[in-house]
Amino acid sequence: MHEYLGGANLVPKDTPHPITNETLPLVLGHEFSGIVEEVGEEVQAFNAGDRVCVQPTIYDGECLSCRRGLVNCCDKNGFIGLSGWGGGMSEHIVVPQHSVKKLPDNVSLEVGALVEPLAVGWHAVSISPYKPGDQVLVLGGGPIGLAVVQVLKAKGCDNIIVSEISPRRKQYAKEFGAHHVIDPSKDDAVAEVKRQTNGEGVDIAFDAAGVQDGVDTAMLALKARGMLVNIAVWEKRATLNMNHLVFRERAYMGIACFALGDFEQVIEAISTGKGLHRTWN
Ligand SMILES: [Zn+2]
Repeated sequence: MHEYLGGANLVPKDTPHPITNETLPLVLGHEFSGIVEEVGEEVQAFNAGDRVCVQPTIYDGECLSCRRGLVNCCDKNGFIGLSGWGGGMSEHIVVPQHSVKKLPDNVSLEVGALVEPLAVGWHAVSISPYKPGDQVLVLGGGPIGLAVVQVLKAKGCDNIIVSEISPRRKQYAKEFGAHHVIDPSKDDAVAEVKRQTNGEGVDIAFDAAGVQDGVDTAMLALKARGMLVNIAVWEKRATLNMNHLVFRERAYMGIACFALGDFEQVIEAISTGKGLHRTWN
């Protein structure tokens, strides 16, 4: 049984990417911003001099997912800066008009380059069942885990627990707004989550780590009918104790990068200060 997954061939080593037809070596850089130098004849929405960031999603626009508007789930998905078409590490790049998003005057190019990872966190929280009052566990305090923390803060979440082992990332997690940071290499992570939630467990867990121990922890740290939201791209196949799902009616869902509209919402949230502002502006 085979299904083409961008995650498995996002950086095409031997087989060319089905849309870009490129293989390594490629110019990297999928989180970037810049200034428009020139526009195509048919382009009206942009002018030379505009400050912009790039939504790097590559999609065919034809498959069923694309026709449903789910371009991030395209059968041939790829990324500018990972799958071809150049990347943010180059001085100049040509990208399709639909990939370009204008930055408001009060959003710098430096912050513009961070819209991409923030959009991953934004999308994850948006399509998860998160609702005000929920208590949340975030596995992993890397860039995406921190983006999830920022978005949860923006949405008013008042109990964010981050699980992370790196001292530096634990510190960042606190600075970015986590209410509690636990270290699974030292603490009994499930017991710690229970302790920080009045013995209840969390409503939602976001996995931005992609390791077996994290899934095992999250599953047991979720209350009945809790949702484990997987953002991580996995290097190895994981195992699940299915009865941990069954007997607590827990659920497990996947997140693929970001959808149409997420970039615009993140840029607006940064620009207006409705969340995401304390760190990013
Ligand atoms: Zn498609």
